[in-house]
Amino acid sequence: MEKKIIAVLGATGSQGKGVVNSILKDGTFKARAVTRNPEKYSGKADEVVKGDLTDLVSLTEAFKNAHGVFVVTNFWEGADEIAQGKLAIQAAKDAGVNHFIWSTLPNVEKISNGKFNVPHFTGKARVDELGKNAGFKNYTFVQPPFYFQNLTGQMGAQTQQDGSLGWTLPINPTVKGIHMSDINDLGKVVAGAFLNPEKVGNGSYLSLATELNSFNDILDTFKANGKEYSFNQVPAEVFSSFFQGAEEIAQMLAYFEAHTYMGPNPEAQIQLAKEIATEEFTSLNDWINQN
Ligand code: NAP
Repeated sequence: MEKKIIAVLGATGSQGKGVVNSILKDGTFKARAVTRNPEKYSGKADEVVKGDLTDLVSLTEAFKNAHGVFVVTNFWEGADEIAQGKLAIQAAKDAGVNHFIWSTLPNVEKISNGKFNVPHFTGKARVDELGKNAGFKNYTFVQPPFYFQNLTGQMGAQTQQDGSLGWTLPINPTVKGIHMSDINDLGKVVAGAFLNPEKVGNGSYLSLATELNSFNDILDTFKANGKEYSFNQVPAEVFSSFFQGAEEIAQMLAYFEAHTYMGPNPEAQIQLAKEIATEEFTSLNDWINQN
């Protein structure tokens, strides 16, 4: 029998790449990479098609004959995530998709009673309601955590004024508020969700969180692997003036400190993600070792 197809948005990026790889490794489904530039695609998906989250016609075409779709939007590229989420839901409905999986995040505005403003979390969460009411046979929400990869990428250690290598951030380094994982492991959860619609296709939330760490825990894990980093806590107002977009990061870290990344009572959603995953997750210690 022909394998059913899963269309994967963001297949050239951190989240989607792991999704494609886990689908291929499991082997039950075919993976279709959706990208704005198919000619540049160098991943392993069975098929690659053109699709744009701002263009309903191209996305509906990209979702044609797909059993399931995984959708992630990129806030950091300036996306209007509500508009793109809405368009993706419309395209998936028009294409007759059976299982819709949305990469979302906790609603910081709701959790904090409006105290913290973190649009790249709350904007994604606002799309959840649209997904719930769209009438898909199966729909599931996945919540990626803080990527281990941030620690060597976007938010990597930098040379400090005293010459040490480390971080200057507006967060109390003793507070365990950062849910974290190797972002490649999101694919294991998403593939598991497509394989188990009877368990999680009724709007379940799956939160990927291999560890809940404080910044000191992170420093200790690097230290155990022979890498010594410094940490300097600064007030949010000072940090916010460091670079464009720093205010958003400061608000996010303040939210982590007050409510943790995944918000209140995330244990059941974290456990469900673990149960449904096609493979075990990588610890921070092992990830540092391997990288
Ligand atoms: P990434 O590695 O930067 O890649 C971005 C992906 O988005 C690319 O594959 C790109 O595809 C695709 N894309 C962007 N605009 C598109 C459009 N208009 N149409 C179709 N595809 C589009 O991104 P990522 O890290 O996987 O995902 C980004 C999201 O993750 C952000 O919204 C961020 O808030 C969220 N997030 C990040 C973290 C973290 O710790 N870093 C944690 C949780 C959530 P093409 O260029 O190939 O078309």
